[in-house]
Amino acid sequence: SSYHKVLEENRILYNQVQDLKGTIRVYCRVRPFLQGQPNGQSTVDYIGENGNIMIVNPLKHGKDARKVFSFNKVFGPTISQEQVYVDTQPLVRSILDGYNVCIFAYGQTGSGKTYTMSGPDLTTEQTWGVNYRALRDLFQMSKERADVVHYEVGVQMIEIYNEQLNGLNVPDASWVPVSSTQDVLELMKVGQKNRAVGATALNERSSRSHSILTVHVYGKELVSGSILRGCLHLVDLAGSERVDKSEAVGERLKEAQHINKSLSALGDVISALAQKSAHIPYRNSKLTQVLQDSLGGQAKTLMFVHISPEVNAVGETISTLKFAERVASIELGAARSNK
Ligand code: ADP
Repeated sequence: SSYHKVLEENRILYNQVQDLKGTIRVYCRVRPFLQGQPNGQSTVDYIGENGNIMIVNPLKHGKDARKVFSFNKVFGPTISQEQVYVDTQPLVRSILDGYNVCIFAYGQTGSGKTYTMSGPDLTTEQTWGVNYRALRDLFQMSKERADVVHYEVGVQMIEIYNEQLNGLNVPDASWVPVSSTQDVLELMKVGQKNRAVGATALNERSSRSHSILTVHVYGKELVSGSILRGCLHLVDLAGSERVDKSEAVGERLKEAQHINKSLSALGDVISALAQKSAHIPYRNSKLTQVLQDSLGGQAKTLMFVHISPEVNAVGETISTLKFAERVASIELGAARSNK
């Protein structure tokens, strides 16, 4: 019967989620060289099967020139959107059983964060990113379970810019009920318009703000009447590049300071969770405050860290990977990165 099918599915999902050991998983994704740009040398020397990536820094010599970083998984430049999503699917699906999940995209501007989360082109499903694949999956799965659990799905789109929270789809940032990916695409369009800035300005601003698409799920089991609540945060973080303090002035400096503050607050929260600290410093930034309920406790976190292969990005690439190892869990970093 469909009831038993759902129970069995739940059991499998539960095991998959339990298998995602630790509070956080970190996946590294390497962007390909951009079309129309000279390829040159790649700073990615080698990608191992077990989540290792070796970076070569042509500006250094001897043993300092190469460094290995270790993550749960590394996706090379030829890995498709679909392949990237496959490993994320169990986490996404677990929200229908009442889990809270946060998925982050981290990396310098231009490294592929928006490509991973949204995709380059909403009109082609093949290149859809994690956001739309996740929603499509949730709608499909909730339909399959319809005679066992009645689900309602709602989304909320917000942006955090200079420590200020703005609602994008609706002014008060409340959540809007949706029942198909089409509904979500329509909302996205409204959200883009509400930003009320030109395309170039939008691009620049979106690289300096965090944008968060939150999916709320409310389910009622028809037989027992019990209630399930799950929540998925899909977070496209502001560009992590360090801004030269001697050059940035005015607005740009202020933005850079806010970004630094919130990204390091995020790193602090995640590493405090990984170390099981008694005090988790959620209050240090708007971003960690907004995500508080979905970081720690029973919640699961996945971070996609993005790097560009170009030699001129090598400094940012290394600091991105260092940040990522810090959040990946202190143990994993110490035990595996030195070999
Ligand atoms: P970010 O959001 O980090 O600023 P984008 O997602 O806008 O970066 O990516 C920068 C450029 O690289 C875009 O033109 C994007 O289409 C392209 N790109 C990024 N990742 C990939 C990928 N995995 N495959 C093909 N093109 C990519």
